[in-house]
Amino acid sequence: MKFRINEIFQSIQGEGLMVGIPMNFIRFCRCNRNCLWCDTDFEDGKEMEITEIIDKLNESLPWVSLTGGEPMLEENLAHMIRRLKTENFKILLETNGTLFNEEVFLLCDFVSVDLKGPSSGNEGYNEYTLSYCLKNPEKTQLKVVIQNDGDLNFFKRVYQDEYPNWVLQPEWKSMDRLDYHRIIEEFPRVRIIPQIHKVMRVR
Ligand code: SF4
Repeated sequence: MKFRINEIFQSIQGEGLMVGIPMNFIRFCRCNRNCLWCDTDFEDGKEMEITEIIDKLNESLPWVSLTGGEPMLEENLAHMIRRLKTENFKILLETNGTLFNEEVFLLCDFVSVDLKGPSSGNEGYNEYTLSYCLKNPEKTQLKVVIQNDGDLNFFKRVYQDEYPNWVLQPEWKSMDRLDYHRIIEEFPRVRIIPQIHKVMRVR
């Protein structure tokens, strides 16, 4: 069984609630979106067997991030996760929120969902994905990239006060232009976290 892999590397997690944790990253090749501010080159890659993939992981780092592109496009993702778990890795799934597979979500130790607002050019998400996160706050986060008022209005529509793990992520190039005091007043319980790996200039 082969998987379409763009790259495998070790770095720190730069986004969301797990920021700063050193981990392995497996980046998959394809995506079903074409976000205007996408900063990831994910299209090239090669087919790899699971054993080749595992050989490239650092076993001293407990976490493996499945990222992309969009990992949920990989038909045999559940198989990969099970196999990685037999190697004692913990699994973080980073997904754009448009695809739902309960089996995959339940296998993961943490699911990070990016809900795409209007500035992405791809507004929308899967209702089942949102609902899964809202029901499983101990192992999920919901992230929205904010570039402008349109994104904040989108966030207002999806926001639910009882869910604890909302993250607003300032879009990198718009970071200096956002009115953070206004955002804090409107959403006092929401964390605002920029892409730390870019601040540190690590991949
Ligand atoms: S979903 Fe993610 S990887 Fe895909 S185009 Fe959008 S930002 Fe890029």
